[in-house]
Amino acid sequence: MKNNSDKYPYKRVLLKLSGEALMGSQEFGIDATQLECYAEEIHRVAEAGIEVAVVVGGGNIFRGVQAATFGVDRVQGDYMGMLATVINGMALQSALEKMGSYTRLLSGIQMEQVCEPYIRRRAVRHLEKGRVVIFAAGLGSPYFTTDSAASLRAIEIDADVVLKGTRVDGVYSADPEKDPNAVRYSNISFHEVYQQNLNVMDMTAFTLCRENGLPIIVFDMNKPGNLMKVLCGEEVGTLIQE
Ligand code: UDP
Repeated sequence: MKNNSDKYPYKRVLLKLSGEALMGSQEFGIDATQLECYAEEIHRVAEAGIEVAVVVGGGNIFRGVQAATFGVDRVQGDYMGMLATVINGMALQSALEKMGSYTRLLSGIQMEQVCEPYIRRRAVRHLEKGRVVIFAAGLGSPYFTTDSAASLRAIEIDADVVLKGTRVDGVYSADPEKDPNAVRYSNISFHEVYQQNLNVMDMTAFTLCRENGLPIIVFDMNKPGNLMKVLCGEEVGTLIQE
């Protein structure tokens, strides 16, 4: 049963935060200030009674495709990438707890000394109790991304929307940094995204959302207060739906 407050259009949400976003202005790793800013944003919406689950990426530490440069194979590299997301998840958990949020870290790879295993019913129960649930280790399988984990976990926990927090303020018709005529969409359909070959998420992640009628909002997570605005139904970023 979801939190039944009618105050907000979304009652249970899944936020995808990329590992790169956690880097801030650094070249690698976690920027403490950036981490704190994100934790504050999440803490605020959880305090308002919205059920929040977060999928964290790991690209600030390791990506599977880098594996070859280390002389290891792709599958091994993907597992390394998944472990990187656990490090980020632990950091986010600590930052949230420092602010007074109740949190649980659930991992797609069993690591019982540091986090709970991912069990869908348990995740839902944590959310119902007002805990911020952080999903780490992606789907626990190589050849996937944390975007795919965000889509699948959102479907599994019956989230109302996937929030893709990025450094840009939505989906554009072209790359706004290269094309001065690029326009930002406030609303766009899944079909139009396909047709125009726009880059929202990888195709597996995107198709999962489309096939399950799960809307996606792409928005600028670096603007303080934006997450709350999205959840209040304000027109922030781009809403993708059928
Ligand atoms: N990964 C994986 N399976 C998953 C999720 C992630 O193998 O279900 C690996 C993959 O190598 C990926 C890395 O973990 O490159 C880090 O995740 P991702 O690149 O999605 O992080 P982000 O881009 O969001 O920082």
